[in-house]
Amino acid sequence: MKTFNIAALAGDGIGPEVMREAAKVLRVAEKKFGFTLNITEAPVGWAGIDAAGKALPDATLALCKKSDAILFGSVGLPDRDPTIPKEERPERAALLRIRKEFGLFANLRPVKLPKALAHACPLAKERQGDGIDILVVRELTGGMYFGQPKKTEDIGGGNFRATDTMVYTTPEIERIAHVAFKEAQKIRRKKVTSIDKANVLENGILWREVVTRVGKNYPDVTLEHMFVDNAAMQLVLRPTQFDVMLCENMFGDILSDEAAALGGSLGMLPSASLGATIGDPSMDFEKTFGLYEPAGGTAPDIAGKNLANPIAQILSAAMMLQHSFGQTVAAIAIENAVAKAIEAGNRTGDIFNPNESNTRKVGTREMGDAIASAV
Ligand code: NAD
Repeated sequence: MKTFNIAALAGDGIGPEVMREAAKVLRVAEKKFGFTLNITEAPVGWAGIDAAGKALPDATLALCKKSDAILFGSVGLPDRDPTIPKEERPERAALLRIRKEFGLFANLRPVKLPKALAHACPLAKERQGDGIDILVVRELTGGMYFGQPKKTEDIGGGNFRATDTMVYTTPEIERIAHVAFKEAQKIRRKKVTSIDKANVLENGILWREVVTRVGKNYPDVTLEHMFVDNAAMQLVLRPTQFDVMLCENMFGDILSDEAAALGGSLGMLPSASLGATIGDPSMDFEKTFGLYEPAGGTAPDIAGKNLANPIAQILSAAMMLQHSFGQTVAAIAIENAVAKAIEAGNRTGDIFNPNESNTRKVGTREMGDAIASAV
């Protein structure tokens, strides 16, 4: 029987509550689909600072290194100890450190709006078609956020000049493009929309050239190119035209949040940050290390009250089964169970609408129970 090791880092705020529900669902999937999950919990974020004086304690990092994947909750509590400098606060000291440590270059953010939750989407119903289903693939370690030089200079007379540099190399674009095309080939609609600004940016020209070349390896996938400004507009005008959106780091940061707004609630949106894939699928050995986490944060306003929506965390666990463990059937079963729990009328506060008939407001635990029993 296959065994997978998971580092479960629940973090702060609603993290522990939603992580508990994800573990509940994983335990059911484990029994049903015949694999073994070793789930080991460790503190991170303020929980890490409280337990070991650091947002990412050494023991937590060591656990991650010997695990096959990290299932992450959320970190950060804005009201805690303002004397702790930014670099040591959880958002930077834990999350950015893990991304760097494990070379997590590909960020996958699926946005799926089930028809039953059409009311939670800010767009008019006629713009939602048969439901929105977009996967944003964002490059996570290059581009403007990391390019050098990056500085602010005093240019005299009380004025300053700030410089950020957008840099991409061919290999960086190739590897993220492969991720996007492979995702489009999976259980999706086989279309990649590559986002760039090739009309004004050198980076955009290189991006377009490289993506076009990589696309030739995937003849069953339709490739189209779109300027980022138009993409921002098309997302709200006709979101159903998109299947996989392939973006460099900054464009992906912005567009994935715009797309997230279409999904109804932050509590519904999972994400995966993947490193390089090693091994060969034809030899039945392929391994991708990943960190899986909800798109939202620690939601301090509702933490500890059994109000949080656990679906983002549960779907993140499903992404982990698919991408890091190759358990696609189990992952799809969890996605279907989420859809069933929603169709059955279960709604946490963030997706509840009093005008919807045959629905009831449930807590974090009850939503987790409904999904677990539907798996
Ligand atoms: P947030 O995502 O925590 O909350 C924004 C709003 O969305 C709140 O009203 C919250 O109640 C709601 N929400 C979020 N997740 C929900 C869920 N599962 N169910 C129901 N409602 C949900 O963003 P924020 O308030 O700006 O940030 C709070 C803290 O979280 C900050 O310290 C921030 O830095 C941190 N944060 C961490 C991560 C991460 O760990 N990856 C991501 C974003 C924010």
